[in-house]
Amino acid sequence: MATPDLRHTELFKGFLRLSSEIGNDILKTQGAGGNTSIKSDGVMWVKASGTWLSKADAEDIMVPVVVEPLVAALREGDPRAEKSTDFVVSDLNSSGLRPSIETSFHAALKSPVVAHYHCVNAIALAVLQDRDAILAARMKAVSDLKWVTIPYRRPGTPLAREIEKAASSEPDVLILFNHGIIVCGDTIEEVSNRIQRVTNALTGEARRTETADIDALAVIAKGSGYHPAHDRESHSVALSNANQEIALGGSLYPDHVIFLGTEIGVLTQDESAADLEAALHREGREAPKMLIVPGKGILLSTTLTAGGEVMARCLAEVVGRIPEGQSVAYLSKDDEYELTHWEAEQYRQALDRASARQPA
Ligand SMILES: [Zn+2]
Repeated sequence: MATPDLRHTELFKGFLRLSSEIGNDILKTQGAGGNTSIKSDGVMWVKASGTWLSKADAEDIMVPVVVEPLVAALREGDPRAEKSTDFVVSDLNSSGLRPSIETSFHAALKSPVVAHYHCVNAIALAVLQDRDAILAARMKAVSDLKWVTIPYRRPGTPLAREIEKAASSEPDVLILFNHGIIVCGDTIEEVSNRIQRVTNALTGEARRTETADIDALAVIAKGSGYHPAHDRESHSVALSNANQEIALGGSLYPDHVIFLGTEIGVLTQDESAADLEAALHREGREAPKMLIVPGKGILLSTTLTAGGEVMARCLAEVVGRIPEGQSVAYLSKDDEYELTHWEAEQYRQALDRASARQPA
């Protein structure tokens, strides 16, 4: 029996529209983060690894996979569930891309439409020690929705296995500690409506800060492999003591570690970026991708891809929403190690480098 091709339907167009809406909201998606899926007749279309949801309307970024065999593989601990490439319906896969590394959890969730994204408001609450109580209070605003929390696990099969356990209760919303959120539903309209309501329930104001001193930053960066962040909003990490302290306290969520690493540098007064580079070089240490210049703004490594640059913005949005004085549950050293030694992520970053060569 031929597999039906969903792509020519209005339903699929609606799915792409929703995907690109989520992808174009910087408070929900940064770079290649986040992914959406739609299931029909045993086939699930899911965002390809390393591609940007914001381009869902304009480019061929959805990959078809068979649902049941993938879920069975996940349950049985079959290593093929990690990349899901063996479950792609090749004759429908026009882009030839690999499915997202988060494909297996989309398959495990029973809902026909699933949206996963890195909502900065959700992350800012889901990294707090007190997250259970705080999220329970916020989610009272959407008490008709069934919601659950998922402990932190590395994206891929470790996270998918936790989500698979929760899937039997058919939740509408899953809040992933130190990661993001998943919103499920039967139709595009239902998911879209739930996303709006849950976003309203979780939204918090970002802390106000001074404005960045771009001229001073340019002088400090001179002759180094750094430049002032192009996105003005990214600088707020360095423009309040609370923001700076939270950012330097540890790693908050996986994409930060994957794109910006585990270290953020801090320049002392009168130190230039070139001075710091030279000092690190003498010690045989790697230069961090991001530098904080206290009270002035942030500098980013010129080696960063577009996907890396936008992670600095994500950090600014998240730390700015973490209330002062709240204890934060950072990723552990083991969590960080797992993320920095992970083959599937290297593929995603390689794709990001390739896409960075073309104008967005
Ligand atoms: Zn994610």
